[in-house]
Amino acid sequence: MQTATIDNNGLIAALVNRERISDDLARHLFSPAFDAARPELYAAADRVRQENVGDHVFIRGIIEFSNHCRCQCDYCGISCHNPEISRYRMTHDEVFETASRAHGLGYRSLVLQSGEDRAYRVEDICRIIESIKTRLDMAVTLSIGEWSREEYASFRAAGADRYLLRIETSNQALYERFHRDSKWHERHQALMDLKELGYQVGSGILIGLPGQDGPGLIRDLEYLERLRPEMVGIGPFIPHPQTPLGNQPAGLFENCLTFLALLRLYLPDAFLPATTAMGTVDPLGRQKALKAGANVIMPNVSPVMNRPSYQIYPNKICQDDDAGKCQKCVQSLISALGRTPDFGHGHIRRSIY
Ligand code: SAH
Repeated sequence: MQTATIDNNGLIAALVNRERISDDLARHLFSPAFDAARPELYAAADRVRQENVGDHVFIRGIIEFSNHCRCQCDYCGISCHNPEISRYRMTHDEVFETASRAHGLGYRSLVLQSGEDRAYRVEDICRIIESIKTRLDMAVTLSIGEWSREEYASFRAAGADRYLLRIETSNQALYERFHRDSKWHERHQALMDLKELGYQVGSGILIGLPGQDGPGLIRDLEYLERLRPEMVGIGPFIPHPQTPLGNQPAGLFENCLTFLALLRLYLPDAFLPATTAMGTVDPLGRQKALKAGANVIMPNVSPVMNRPSYQIYPNKICQDDDAGKCQKCVQSLISALGRTPDFGHGHIRRSIY
């Protein structure tokens, strides 16, 4: 794609054809000069979504079962370096009861999310997975950070179907600046291991990390294209006052929507959530995401009393809404868009994982 004079219509046609994006075009896509053409990009992504993954919006309930974490991610409110939050850890029975309640509301797909909490042994996590799989027959997605390959294999053997692990950024230097206790290559290797172990893998990035630019975002897109995960979740960086990045500006909503639309064009059959973070920075964020390529929504089904302590970023939406209220809310949100809420297992139908 050439950039001398950027013709936005030609540009969108090139994006639909999945042409390589130059650095100049990358800067253009994430600048105000592209604003007038954004609705056309979103409409193109919406068409590609419809053709490739249809009109169902898959609903997965999230249980945030522990906010203890051994990591110090500079943007995250539950980092071990934040002494100002009260920490909680749900027992096997509490997680199972929460899952049963979600099952009673019709959910058949759950995401178990936590900080990296080593108070749970591998067998504890396995027992939670096994109970949910065998007694409730729900699809189980884990979002519990980095463990070893053998541990991922044990979770998989216990029945876990999917694993979410965002790469956060494909730029190693940027990654290691904000994760002083982690290595980019280990995160990348974890994603490779998860793929090999037969998980449906979800990855993704944060939009608007300090130091990130348009060309960097396109490199993230190319990384995700090569990784070819079954799911990609993205959202704006939202500064949390009790973290080292607390004074930095939040990621821009329109940049998230643009990146989401590009994901839909470049990974046409991936499952892409309209994330809670997108709904937090824009009151209609999740609806706009569902009209720009997204086909998944992940309402919180955690016990309401724990939610104030699971603020990975501030002002998270739906804090006071119990699982029943969230369920009705997302159902009407999806129906209002003319789409079909789908509470099923929501497996990704790809012939080769
Ligand atoms: N411990 C798990 C789960 C992390 S929480 C793991 O490491 O994978 C899920 C996601 O929340 C993270 O991957 C990160 O992208 C996002 N997140 C964390 N802090 C955030 C912030 N301040 N603003 C926006 N998103 C944030």
